[in-house]
Amino acid sequence: NEGIGSWPGRRARKTPHRTALIHQQQTFSYADLHQRTNRLAHALRAAGVRRGDRVAYLGPNHPSFLETLFATGLLGAVFVPLNTRLAAPEIGYQLADSGARTLIHDPSLYDPTDNGGGSQGDGGASPAEVSPAVKHRIELGDPYEQVLAAAPDNPIDEPVGPDDICMIMYTSGTTGRAKGAMLTHGNLTWNAINVLIDQDITADEVALVSAPLFHTAGLNMITLPVLLKGGTCVLVGAFDPAGTLDLIERHRITFMFGVPAMFDQIARQARWAEADLSSVRQLTCGGAPVPTPLIATYQSRGLNFQQGYGMTEAAPGTLFLAAEHAVSKAGSAGVPHFFTDVRVTGPDLSPVAVGEPGEIVVRGPNVMPGYWGLPEETAAAFADGWFRSGDIARVDEDGFVTIVDRLKDMIISGGENVYPAEVEDVLLGHPAIVECAVIGVPDEKWGEVPRAVVVAQEGSRLDPDEVIAFLSGRLAKYKIPKSVVVAETLPRTASGKLLKSRVRARFGAGPQ
Ligand code: AMP
Ligand code: MG
Repeated sequence: NEGIGSWPGRRARKTPHRTALIHQQQTFSYADLHQRTNRLAHALRAAGVRRGDRVAYLGPNHPSFLETLFATGLLGAVFVPLNTRLAAPEIGYQLADSGARTLIHDPSLYDPTDNGGGSQGDGGASPAEVSPAVKHRIELGDPYEQVLAAAPDNPIDEPVGPDDICMIMYTSGTTGRAKGAMLTHGNLTWNAINVLIDQDITADEVALVSAPLFHTAGLNMITLPVLLKGGTCVLVGAFDPAGTLDLIERHRITFMFGVPAMFDQIARQARWAEADLSSVRQLTCGGAPVPTPLIATYQSRGLNFQQGYGMTEAAPGTLFLAAEHAVSKAGSAGVPHFFTDVRVTGPDLSPVAVGEPGEIVVRGPNVMPGYWGLPEETAAAFADGWFRSGDIARVDEDGFVTIVDRLKDMIISGGENVYPAEVEDVLLGHPAIVECAVIGVPDEKWGEVPRAVVVAQEGSRLDPDEVIAFLSGRLAKYKIPKSVVVAETLPRTASGKLLKSRVRARFGAGPQ
């Protein structure tokens, strides 16, 4: 087994007694992680999970997340992490689309047997959207522990190679529904190697994992590289800015990843100025544009504040600005990771001149083979072997890349992507809405938040609060517009195409 499922066993051979994971009061050595992973793999196999089968996981950061990832990897099965913030119909869609027959989950987040749409829904899910494929479930907590306790310890030795699919990670799509990015064992391994090289990860790392593991950065930019090297990951179930400073002090944290909104909230804590951050060797911020004042705040505290740029489809590390260039190249997202190639290109895919804007395209052993079950979308996402990011950037004379804009119509709110098309689809399901447009408006706390501009059916009246209530339970909270503007008409071209830039100019300012 050359896949990542073999990592706990390989580490247990080298460093059995070193601490792999800390979660609340519990500590797991590499020997523990290996034993628990191997047992879970036996239990999954006994339940019928075979090579290529999808196993979904829904729960907050916890050792069981990583055990499920490694156990499916041991079997050559495919791990499908689900975003805990999604509404029931969105989870139902990803379960159905991936065809996962096995679900390991926190039932308070989503219950596939509940046709009313789960405990957090308000009846937003239609029965057809409730995962028909799930046949076998393990509930997290005691039932999960009982499954492990009952399973044997004999080694599992399935042939798994670098080109086998390890995971399907859903990422929002321009067309509305989420798309599953297929990531191979090789993709995840090469990304981890890129991080080890470019960030000097050591076996003495104590990493704070408070970004969600179900997103690519929390898993791949910190957790997997640290576990590959034999360091320790402190897993935090729910990010809490004040608690972060306590955890850094208590565990002598050396390394943390966060999206800009997380680092911004940490620096606003009353204790920020006097907290003992002397153990911190490096911080990485990414997943959304990193404001320069935020970089300055962390640098003035004497911290190595680095920037990472990437995307789910590249597993995700693409560009990295190391601490040594953080001042001289402030604002840049850096240079490509060691084994990854990046070009900033014009429409014909040739590199643009220094200082000219162009689209970032990515190639390398960390880039996915394609989207699950979507050959046309996959073909459209690549040009001549390069993955098209949809981000616009400029390159300076030293090869440093600065992100300047996005081609794709996407809002990033606190590190979560919101595709307007997805929200617009649901808004149009409202009986009194005939037209709508969703735009991003600047927000102090979240970077951007979605705003809906809606047009009422003739003779109907629209109430913004009622529109927001209509969306709740149908969409994840972070996708629900923070404000709704009722308009007479929307700006369109003669051919009827919505002019998003005009919508932004006309409705993007003003109170929340
Ligand atoms: P995701 O697939 O959720 O990781 O989202 C990837 C997208 O997030 C990229 O295509 C960018 O638009 C955005 N992004 C990620 N990192 C950065 C960064 N450091 N600066 C600006 N945008 C970023
Ligand atoms: Mg993101």
